[in-house]
Amino acid sequence: MSARRAVESGVPELDPYLHPLLKKNYGAWKWHDRPRPGVLHHVAMSGDEVWTVRAGTQRQLDVYTIRTLCDLGDRYADGFLRFTSRSNVEFMVASEAQVAPLIEALGKAGFPVGGTGNSISMISHTQGWLHCDIPATDASGVVKALMDELHEEFIHERMPNKLRISTSCCEINCGGQADIAVNIQHTKPPRINHDAVGNICERPTVVARCPVAAIRPALVNGKPSLEIDERKCMCCGACYPPCPPMLINDPENSKIAIWVGGKHANARSKPTFHKLAVANLPNNPPRWPEVAAVVRAIIHAYKDDAHDWERLGEWIERIGWPRFFELSGLPFTKFHIDNWRGGRGSLNASAHLRF
Ligand code: SF4
Ligand code: SF4
Repeated sequence: MSARRAVESGVPELDPYLHPLLKKNYGAWKWHDRPRPGVLHHVAMSGDEVWTVRAGTQRQLDVYTIRTLCDLGDRYADGFLRFTSRSNVEFMVASEAQVAPLIEALGKAGFPVGGTGNSISMISHTQGWLHCDIPATDASGVVKALMDELHEEFIHERMPNKLRISTSCCEINCGGQADIAVNIQHTKPPRINHDAVGNICERPTVVARCPVAAIRPALVNGKPSLEIDERKCMCCGACYPPCPPMLINDPENSKIAIWVGGKHANARSKPTFHKLAVANLPNNPPRWPEVAAVVRAIIHAYKDDAHDWERLGEWIERIGWPRFFELSGLPFTKFHIDNWRGGRGSLNASAHLRF
């Protein structure tokens, strides 16, 4: 790898943080296998071998937990650790003899080992509750509540194929594609704080931001403000980031929707968008029991009925959506039918980005 110039943004150069064996054999691996759930074993062209132990974390890591993980890395691994995009922590070791003591130490410290192969790995999610300006729920909290329930499926590899779950704390931005996606769903148009609009918002920016052209400039009580055509508004929340007085987050009307069957991979079948399974679930911290019940029902139906190596979306395509609703015990309602025909005329379909 060639040296890279220092920049002020983006990820840092990874060389200094790589385990020496990963650096030495970078891009030159021969084969790998999984000796047990949560452990990967890579063999390089050079004959070098590396064992990677993967463990789940609670996602929002306080400094004490990070120190604990670093201490475990220093004591039982070779002083290196890394995080996956799903917030699993991984320790790399150069000998098989180091694996069992590391797993035991992780278990004693409360970090379950798993998340590989046909398991439910950690949930990829947004953490806007801590750092973003528009979240309507604590997506990381949803993750913690769900993973507490799905722990057994994390430490075992007994699903038909890997099962990926994602969560998102607003309706428009970071929510990813997943076999099961848990996303915020706003159900009422924004309420406008007219007193604040003139001082805080650039009105043309807000008007341009709406994907269905539902926002117009307006004078309200003699002050410059905005108005919404509520027949057009689809409650996406896109106007809220550039204009906080467009109040869309609401404890009652910001709900949670669950989508199924998305996947990024090209393996076996094409990548697919996920589709709506359940809408209007209460956004109910700290344990989101209604969301957990639906996720459990979908997972059990998939696990019981799918063929080996079928991803969740492939399973639904094979059995058909009516059977999916039947097997998972979820109600099929008129709201599942997308009969909106306004998109071609009014949706902003250009590639032009506006902020
Ligand atoms: S999903 Fe939305 S609220 Fe959450 S971090 Fe991303 S942009 Fe912010
Ligand atoms: S919520 Fe979305 S559709 Fe409704 S006014 Fe705001 S940007 Fe437009």
